[in-house]
Formats: sequence, structure tokens, C-alpha cells
Amino acid sequence: MSTSTPRASGEPSIQQELTQLASLRAVHAAFSWFQVHENELLRLQVEVARIPAPPFGEAERAAWLRERFTAIGLKQVEMDEVGNVVGIWRGRDPQRAAVAISAHLDTVFPAGTELAIHEERDRLLGPGVSDNASGIAAMLGIAMAFRYAQLRNEADLIFIGNVGEEGEGDLRGIRHIFEKSPLRDRVGHTIVIDGSGTDAIIGQALGSRRFELIVRGPGGHSWSDFGQPNPIVALSRVISRFSQTPLPASPKTTFNFGVISGGRSVNSIPENAQVSIDLRSASADELQRLEDELRGVIATEISTPVREGAPVKLSCELRKIGDRPAGDLATNSRILEVIRAVDAHLGIQSHMRRASTDANIPISMGRDALTLGAGGSGGGAHTLREWFDPAGRSLGLKRILLAVLALAGVES
Ligand SMILES: [Zn+2]
Repeated sequence: MSTSTPRASGEPSIQQELTQLASLRAVHAAFSWFQVHENELLRLQVEVARIPAPPFGEAERAAWLRERFTAIGLKQVEMDEVGNVVGIWRGRDPQRAAVAISAHLDTVFPAGTELAIHEERDRLLGPGVSDNASGIAAMLGIAMAFRYAQLRNEADLIFIGNVGEEGEGDLRGIRHIFEKSPLRDRVGHTIVIDGSGTDAIIGQALGSRRFELIVRGPGGHSWSDFGQPNPIVALSRVISRFSQTPLPASPKTTFNFGVISGGRSVNSIPENAQVSIDLRSASADELQRLEDELRGVIATEISTPVREGAPVKLSCELRKIGDRPAGDLATNSRILEVIRAVDAHLGIQSHMRRASTDANIPISMGRDALTLGAGGSGGGAHTLREWFDPAGRSLGLKRILLAVLALAGVES
């Protein structure tokens, strides 16, 4: 499933397959649907962006999507136990490995953020309009075009609006799909739609592990208890020592100490101090090596007395707050072959990118998956000034549709 099968001579090349696909009358009908229904897509995008979906608070947006899925006529529409919404567009051959099309529901914006979504000139403005209201609109656009054009796909299409992509959501929605859900074994290929754009192929998963290190001690008065171990000093030693860890330039590997806090007042020995740490690498092995190194530094530095002869009373806890696996899509994978052929057909100059997206999960499991943009263009992601420009959206949608069809197979 994840590698391409060698072609017998006389069989059409993937490029010929695509030319054939794109010449089908039903495909033309789907393409023109995208053009004619731009206003409807825009309306759906505004509507969904106005529904709050903070991390761990996607329920209202999920309920909205469930209604849309049902209205389109998807089958077996349901919300699973973690809050993902799933619906199926039946193919003619349910035995064939299904194609999953997913878009994350959540945003980075905390509950209570004012979602002032509005149009200004030709742009849509407001938090989450691009990441990922454009992805959700694209997913719905694909489903609606299938219905309108009566495309006869062979494999089932599984549409997924998933929770928990951003931040501490830690990919929990898509992880559930591939680790626990009964859909797990039915999915053969996965296209994740995330954010705007038409020219990127994200087939390389950027891995990250995130921790919070908490150091605790007895605390005390800065004068009368002087000599008691100080958590801030111990934490600083960990930061200083770990920062000297040599890193490979390739595969690119990085670390960051992002937030530090602790202590009560200038004349108190603190009872605790904490720091958040972000480790990233293109390689799963390097990521593990970096984590081992961090644990080693903590073990040495926290158990060393702060001052010679002082009692050791510090304790520490390293809490994992995120774990996104790294990985690379095989260069001969079917999905990569398909998207390259689609891009060649549509005249899109695409480039391969490494990023952290929902596709990290299937890619790290050796499955056939990648992330594409929803078309149009956008910017200011994760800020209140986020924007989306729908110009050229239909090209992005044609791209996704052709890839889905090539992967699912279609009755000619
Ligand atoms: Zn996103």
C-alpha cells in the first residue's frame, strides 16, 4: 500500500493516468463546481471560523461539522470518543484500501478570544481563518464536489474533522484514528489539509518532544536559611550544561528553553522553579539521543549539592507535555508519485517541506500520508491578524480532488 507497484510495459504511466482522469466529464463538472461555488465556500469558512475551537474545546465546532457531513450525504457520520467527526463517502469497492481526507478542527486561540471574522477588500481576516478554517472549507468542498459531479470512486473516502492538532493537543485526534479507531486498518492513503497554499508537499514529519522540568526544594529565608539548596540555581545549571550539547547540522536538530518561572520574593529561597523545553529533530534517533542527554544532565546537576557540604534536598520531575514523532515518507510511495504527477498536470511548481502536522502520525508509522494546503493564500497564522485570500483557491481544490481520485481509483 505504501509503495508503488512496478508497472508492466504497456500499462499507462501515472502521468497518462492523470491526463485520462482529468479528461472525464465528471471531473470537469467537479472542477467547475469549485469555481461556481466560491461564495459558498467562503460562507462556510466564515461560519466555522466564528465557532470557538480552543485546544481541548472543539465540541461546538465538531457538532457543526457533523451537521454539514450529514447534509452532504456522507454515511456513518459520527463523533468518536475523543471528539473527531468522521463521515464516509462510499466507493464501489469497500474492500479496497480507503483514502482519508482530514482537517483539524482546533485553533491555538484560548477560550474567550474574540473571533471577529470579517471581509476586507478581497481578504478574510481574523483568528483561524486560514489555519484551519480554510482546510475545513476545502474538505467540505471536496465532499460536495463528489456529490454534485457523481464521481464514481472505487475506494471509500473517509472524511475526518479531527481534534487536537495544535500545541498541547499533541496530535491526539489523528493519533486516536491511527492507533485505536476501527478505521485504523481501513485507511490506505491519507491527505491532511492544513492551512492555505497550493505549492507545498509536506511529506517529511518534524518530530518534537516537549517537557516541563520542575525542581523542588525546602525553600527558606535568604539569610537565616542560607545554605539550603536553591531550585533556581539548580535549574540554571541544567540549562547551562544542556545548552553545550553538540548537535548535528544534519539531520537538523534543535532545542529551546521557552518559559521559566519560580520563586516568591527576592529574600526567599524558592521552593520550586520550572522551565519548559522543546526538543526537535528531523530524525527520530537524534530526538531520542537529545532526550537521553537531557535526562543525563538533570540526573547529574540536580543531585549535586548546591554548596559544598550542604544537604541534598532537591527533587525534580520531568513531565512530558508533547511527543510528535519524526519520519519521512518513502521516496517511492504511491501518494508522493500521485501528487507529483498531479502537480505536473496542473502546472504547479511544488516543493517538499518538513513540518509538524497531523501527517506526522501516519508517516512515522510508515503509512502513506502527506499534508497539502487548501489553496488560496494566507498569513499571520497563530495571530489575531491572520488572513486568507481566496484568489486561486480552486486550483488548490482541483489538486486535492485529482490526488484523491488517483488514489481511490475511479470508474472510467
Ligand atoms: Zn493547522
